[in-house]
Amino acid sequence: MSMTTLEDLLVEQIRDLYDAEKQLVRALPKMAEAATSEDLQEGIRSHLEETKNQVSRLERIFEELEIPAKGKACKAMRGLVEEGAEAASDEKSEEPLTDLAIIASAQRVEHYEISAYGTARAIATQLGKENIASLLEETEEEEKAADVKLTEIAEDLMGQIGEGKDAEEEVEVEEKLPRKTTQPGAGTRRAARG
Ligand code: FE
Ligand code: ZN
Ligand code: FE
Ligand code: FE
Repeated sequence: MSMTTLEDLLVEQIRDLYDAEKQLVRALPKMAEAATSEDLQEGIRSHLEETKNQVSRLERIFEELEIPAKGKACKAMRGLVEEGAEAASDEKSEEPLTDLAIIASAQRVEHYEISAYGTARAIATQLGKENIASLLEETEEEEKAADVKLTEIAEDLMGQIGEGKDAEEEVEVEEKLPRKTTQPGAGTRRAARG
């Protein structure tokens, strides 16, 4: 790849995104299937529909640029999708934890996309390509909304687990136990945990 203009850079960014979105169209059904929570299944499936539309939006952008729709292997998305598949194939963990691991992967994906669309939109704006910029912005907004939705589902799931701040009573009882302060090495462990 050799670039000479800012428009070349925009084309590179769009090609990367085109491949990334197409990878997601293939990967999201598996992640939805692996999810246990109905909210999560539904959330992933509805984002899958949006993702298909995002692919079409990128095709419209290729048309605007008057070049053929052609992807360029997005290695970052390949890695993120691999991690997602790993989380989804984990059958040994407790259900909400598998779902939370799927969400952890899915949110990495959304953040990657938000970043990439933001950059591409800024370049398009700089080039005065307002139609392209607004198409990119539409997708960017969908990615942000998907991320927020995933956060909400994760909060619900974490609340069901009964560890941490929602289980304060348990923590208080534990703090009254003398072994916590007299146990040798406890301070060191706490420090190491940092
Ligand atoms: Fe997307
Ligand atoms: Zn990429
Ligand atoms: Fe990292
Ligand atoms: Fe997305």
